[in-house]
Amino acid sequence: PARTRFAPSPTGYLHLGSLRTALFNYLLAKRTGGQFLLRIEDTDQKRTIPDAESRLFRDLRWAGLQWDEGPEVGGPYGPYKQSERSEIYRQHAHRLLENGHAYRCFCSAERLNALAEQRHKLGIATDYDRTCANVPKEESDDRAAKGESHVIRLRVPDQYPIYEDLIYGAFRPLKRRGHVTESAFEDPILLKSDGLPTYHLANVVDDHHMKITHVIRGSEWMPSTPKHIAMYNAFGWTPPQFAHVGLLVDEQGNKLSKRNFDTDISAFREMEIFPETLTNFAALLGWSHQKKSDVMDLKALVDKFTLKFTKGNTTVTFGKLHFLQRKHAALRVEAGGKGLQEMVQHVARVLTDPDSPYQDWQQVIGSAFPEKYISRVIQADAENYTNANEFLYRNSFLFTSLRHPSSFTGAEGIPQDAKMLAEVKNWTREDLMEKVHEIIDNRPEGRQGAKPVYQYLRMALSGQKEGMRLYDIMLMLGRKESLARLGVEGV
Ligand code: GLU
Repeated sequence: PARTRFAPSPTGYLHLGSLRTALFNYLLAKRTGGQFLLRIEDTDQKRTIPDAESRLFRDLRWAGLQWDEGPEVGGPYGPYKQSERSEIYRQHAHRLLENGHAYRCFCSAERLNALAEQRHKLGIATDYDRTCANVPKEESDDRAAKGESHVIRLRVPDQYPIYEDLIYGAFRPLKRRGHVTESAFEDPILLKSDGLPTYHLANVVDDHHMKITHVIRGSEWMPSTPKHIAMYNAFGWTPPQFAHVGLLVDEQGNKLSKRNFDTDISAFREMEIFPETLTNFAALLGWSHQKKSDVMDLKALVDKFTLKFTKGNTTVTFGKLHFLQRKHAALRVEAGGKGLQEMVQHVARVLTDPDSPYQDWQQVIGSAFPEKYISRVIQADAENYTNANEFLYRNSFLFTSLRHPSSFTGAEGIPQDAKMLAEVKNWTREDLMEKVHEIIDNRPEGRQGAKPVYQYLRMALSGQKEGMRLYDIMLMLGRKESLARLGVEGV
């Protein structure tokens, strides 16, 4: 069983990209019968947004990604919020000081900046010259005891740690400024001068103590991973397995940002995208599955999940989101439970709003309780449901009275012939079909002229050229309203 975690920093809200990361971790844990943890990485207090945490909780739960251990639910390895674990990190940094894998760095910010600039000019791959790496231990202890400001840095090994990424395979060092940073990369800071940890230290210490077995995260963290491996080695710990997933980009290849729809999850909720639509959509971003159909709810995703991802960035196109939404709408209708009920409630709320454009819906529906009628309309047109507003707009003719059999330019006499539908007393699909066929057969063009008859009926009944199935329209409207729209009075 895998133990995985989602480790967001509360410096922003849950976005499509971070939801996807959380989802993959959730799926792997559930697939293997393991645990999914939530850990708040709030080491950068200056960038923390006050309501980020509560919104993260709400949005994850809305998406169905309930964590097994973490804030609000607890667990054996808590606290699960890094700002409440400072002492643990401090102790661990000191452990590395003691075993020689870390050293105190007393260099001032000014010196470091000037140094970095100078080294860039010379084309040297790293910013820091490791001056303090050579300060003797006693001197270092002494200066610290006297209160001299310092940070603690990891002493990175001469050999760049190569690790086997579950997606990318053996990870080789990146070229940097024309040089391969093969032997030495920056000695990362573990503990800042205020005694608080950096992301690197806190992340590694927590993944170890929380017994994380697999880390799935965005590929922007890939360059950090060798540092993390070096840290695991320095502590004498076994690192978890890493899987880095590509970035999400738009069709122009730009990283998704607020401007191009990497909107926070609540925006999808406000668009009334179903949670199962969004998790389905997010799962397909870079994950390759063996199923025939792309349509899967969270449970189906758990059943199918494997660590098979495409390498490289993933292009996000939103057409797929709307396709999936319609498919999940149809599934909700098929299941007929709470999901359908929720759709009905939404539509009813829009319809009965005092400002709704469908003011005379009662004349058409003829009832103070539109839910039943709405439910029937949704069932007849589920495969076109996206959200309440769009659905009502598409089917507005079923919620407003329409009294203008439009001037018809098709074959002559069709409006008159269509009135024969008044002979249908038993307003059922079978009887209606039979009558329409009879009308067509009696026309001079016979079957050849069927199309304009259907076009007329659709236009007269709905005022639209396209929409739900014709017989569904007639059944939905009922006998009286349908005939009125065809210009038959007094039925
Ligand atoms: N706190 C990091 C983030 O916000 C976590 C990265 C990781 O998964 O290691 O993305």
